[in-house]
Amino acid sequence: MERSSSSYTSETRSRMLCLYNVEAPLVTSWTEDNPGRRFYGCGLYKVTGRKWCNYFEWHDPVANIRQKKIMVTLMKKVDELESREKDLQSRIRDTKRKEIFLGILLVVCWVVFRLYIPECTIVEYA
Ligand SMILES: [Zn+2]
Repeated sequence: MERSSSSYTSETRSRMLCLYNVEAPLVTSWTEDNPGRRFYGCGLYKVTGRKWCNYFEWHDPVANIRQKKIMVTLMKKVDELESREKDLQSRIRDTKRKEIFLGILLVVCWVVFRLYIPECTIVEYA
């Protein structure tokens, strides 16, 4: 593969081209085998209706076992927190719906009370 940049460090990103001469984006892997490890893949991979080549090249070296374990633990923690956040958002929506329902119920009760029990009026004592 050709690189248009001569300096090639983890900070300076060079342009990588796939077999179709399309710029291959730098993507981060989140699999358990290669958590957080970046790679270049075909730029047409996620373009619907376009045929893509099998171009693939690692950008980062293989992480050691300890780094992988830490990354996997952090990924699981992130998944867990995202799931809890979704659950909380859903509970907030349910609570808001109940709040609206109770507000309407309160108004209906008040109207029914005023219509069917007109003799019950609030007496003010001076
Ligand atoms: Zn390609």
